[in-house]
Amino acid sequence: MKKKRILIPAPRSRFYKVICKVCGAENVVFSHASFPARCKVCGTQLVQPTGGKARILKDKAEIVAELG
Ligand SMILES: [Zn+2]
Repeated sequence: MKKKRILIPAPRSRFYKVICKVCGAENVVFSHASFPARCKVCGTQLVQPTGGKARILKDKAEIVAELG
């Protein structure tokens, strides 16, 4: 991989493991999701897309881990 000069810092996108506060299920969500991620078990919306970094809905989801 070539080294190249970075002029603009790239967005630090990553995955988060979150716990759905409604049903307790673990879900993996992308930090820059462009769509509203929902709990795979109960369908509760966990992430609100903003156009840039997605917002984790803190009253519905709790981040338990960052995955690279
Ligand atoms: Zn749920």
